[in-house]
Amino acid sequence: MVWKSALCVHSGVCVRGLPEVFDTRRQPWIAIDAASSAAIVEQVGRCPSGALSIDRTAEK
Ligand code: SF4
Repeated sequence: MVWKSALCVHSGVCVRGLPEVFDTRRQPWIAIDAASSAAIVEQVGRCPSGALSIDRTAEK
């Protein structure tokens, strides 16, 4: 997963949708192992700004 901070509009969609993965009070704020890949892909698809995306080249 890739997060482009410059694109984030801080809508909170990711934090509300999958709080176990996206938690801005934590550092780092994204815990990629805290949910299934399918759940993360689905949530990333709901990001309204395109700040979150899936880096397919990283998948093996
Ligand atoms: S859903 Fe996208 S735009 Fe909204 S806070 Fe998360 S990363 Fe930022």
